[in-house]
Amino acid sequence: MSSGDIRSEVKKRRTFAIISHPDAGKTTLTEKLLLFAGAIQIAGSVKARKASRHASSDWMEIEKQRGISVASSVMQMEYRDCVINLLDTPGHQDFSEDTYRVLTAVDAALMVIDAANGVEPQTIRLLQVCRARNTPIITFVNKLDREVQEPLDVLSEIESHLGMEVVPFSWPIGMARRFGGVFNLRANHMRVFKPGQERHGEDEIIPGLDNPVIAERFGEPFEKAQEEIELLNAAAPEFNLDLFLAGKQTPVFFGSAINNFGVQEVLDALVDLAPAPGPRAALQREVQPDEPKFSGVVFKVQANMDPAHRDRVAFVRVSSGHFKRGMKLKVSRTGKEIRPNNVVSFLSQRRELLDDAFAGDIIGVPNHGILQLGDVLTEGENLQFTGLPFFAPELFQSIEVKDPLRTKQLRTGLTQLGEEGAIQVFRPHMAGGMMLLGAVGQLQFEVVAHRLKTEYGVEARLSSSRFNMARWVTAKDPKDMKKFIETNAGNIAYDVVEATAFLASSPAQLRVAQELNPGIEFHALREHG
Ligand code: GDP
Repeated sequence: MSSGDIRSEVKKRRTFAIISHPDAGKTTLTEKLLLFAGAIQIAGSVKARKASRHASSDWMEIEKQRGISVASSVMQMEYRDCVINLLDTPGHQDFSEDTYRVLTAVDAALMVIDAANGVEPQTIRLLQVCRARNTPIITFVNKLDREVQEPLDVLSEIESHLGMEVVPFSWPIGMARRFGGVFNLRANHMRVFKPGQERHGEDEIIPGLDNPVIAERFGEPFEKAQEEIELLNAAAPEFNLDLFLAGKQTPVFFGSAINNFGVQEVLDALVDLAPAPGPRAALQREVQPDEPKFSGVVFKVQANMDPAHRDRVAFVRVSSGHFKRGMKLKVSRTGKEIRPNNVVSFLSQRRELLDDAFAGDIIGVPNHGILQLGDVLTEGENLQFTGLPFFAPELFQSIEVKDPLRTKQLRTGLTQLGEEGAIQVFRPHMAGGMMLLGAVGQLQFEVVAHRLKTEYGVEARLSSSRFNMARWVTAKDPKDMKKFIETNAGNIAYDVVEATAFLASSPAQLRVAQELNPGIEFHALREHG
């Protein structure tokens, strides 16, 4: 394939994550996007999967979610002349590292906000990651068919939490029972709201903000919207594509996902505004998406997706080149070669065998533990992409096996779950010390205990640990490191990639260690590589 052909494939790609606080309407909007793109025929299939998780307890819910997320966590659809890759982010409230890694694999994010609740905690955390990476964000304010906050208030809340300018592209006329529709501020026409869950052909469109027909038909809510729009015209910043692409401005759309309303505008915005895949930074050099040679990075690993086979699927975001089924690939970390024949894509929620993929696409590579989080696949070049974050855990538990005969299974399970990133596993420096689990959310422990039992047949006993902070440590001078490890042996542990960590039981202890050891650097975040 010529580089021109690759370039035109890359230009067509849009890869984005959909983020929200639970219950804002992410699942509903996802489903409607698929519906509008023609990727699914009947609305309800995404929902049905989700409904099945509601009955059980919280962690069982996650467990099920993990099970179904094979099909629903990455979805590919074609819309207009584009190929859109949509990555779901786990919706549960617990702070999860997985979500953050998903955000490293996308070029833009779609943020869904419940207009009644405004900006909620989970959204804020996700936004911080987007902000840190300057990810462009498109905002969808949902549920206008309900009694919600004043749209101007929602806007200013978004602005203050995001720390970026908000530029409304549409404006709602009324709300709840008096929700008349949205006024498209760019096209200068009104899209009339029609309730109902079916998609009834084309919406009614009435042109012109000063159109007496609209004023008469929608009355007071329209007058109010008119005044607000005038205010916005005077006060809101002009949309600037460069500022949006730099993550400094977000276009805002209003609608009601459940009623299929406002969905089309969002889909069009993804095609028209969201960026095609760009260059990616590796330690060695910057990798261009339209380079002829393939490269990709593992941003998510899921173990035991099929309980009958001990397989794991590595989710690889293609960074450059042209992936062809059966091509030979090298794992940069180990130098091992693989020739994946059964790579899967995620077209419209089915796992399908994949023949070709380009920058921005996500491919699933089944393997038996050869691939780890952060691994880079290339056609031979040694590359290490930067920026896949691991967060220093804030919660720790010691773990041991109830039946000592199953110690080996425990080790295997912990190694695999650690490599998958489900939890962080630390092996203490002191011989005979118990293995430690580190998490950033409490739920992670329960999920891991449950998975050890169901997937590895290990009954594990978790107990509280005296540690509650960790910092990865590095030193310019290996002698400093050696001395540090010797004098702090009881607080030293190694993670799955054998990176050295200092575990502390209090901020004061960490501070003292920092003061006493100027030659040692302490890191709250470890980037792979
Ligand atoms: P998620 O947790 O963010 O994926 O949210 P869901 O898509 O599951 O939606 C949460 C709840 O809000 C469900 O009961 C939906 O039916 C409801 N919902 C979603 N969109 C709308 C909307 O536009 N209007 C109203 N009234 N309810 C909605």
